[in-house]
Amino acid sequence: MKELEALYGKITDYLKNGDGWVRRENISPKDLDVCNGEATDDGITHTCALCVALNRTVFKNDNKPDYYHPFCKCEQKPTAPPEPTLDFPMRKIKDYLFVKKEELMRSMGYLPEDADEVYALLGEGAKKEYAEGNYKLGFFNEHGQRISITLRMKGKRDKLGKSFDVVTGWMVYPYGKLHNNTPISGWAK
Ligand SMILES: [Zn+2]
Ligand SMILES: [Zn+2]
Repeated sequence: MKELEALYGKITDYLKNGDGWVRRENISPKDLDVCNGEATDDGITHTCALCVALNRTVFKNDNKPDYYHPFCKCEQKPTAPPEPTLDFPMRKIKDYLFVKKEELMRSMGYLPEDADEVYALLGEGAKKEYAEGNYKLGFFNEHGQRISITLRMKGKRDKLGKSFDVVTGWMVYPYGKLHNNTPISGWAK
């Protein structure tokens, strides 16, 4: 019966919101931003950590985390497409991408001096694709809902004329904010 109820919920939800955007909301004042990236239970409003982690997050109605439980008080409110902002420190490029994934960058013709260009490309690219609904849902826990976004990078230097599809990993924070997890995890399949 539970499965049937869940299915029925999904169908009515879809009929109501279609493939538009929705913001998940509950009555807790806590969300991922308030909790500094690690959601905890809110005993005052009786909201569990996972519902806190999704509080005020924005997804396409037909591509959103389907975490629900009995007596969950979260609502899906129709909203305009997100105007994404970034939580994406430059060190993710300078101290991670061009250090730990130096070889991958080099294989596309990129060198550490291209850090600003790569930052803009990944950040702006992710904002655009997310706002157009082009993301894939990944793992979900109290740190939030991960999404991956595929971006095309143009080769540089000895790789001029080539293009590469890379996967970039983000956590969806409240109100359309993208928190960077992994600037580039690898090639798109
Ligand atoms: Zn909950
Ligand atoms: Zn809930």
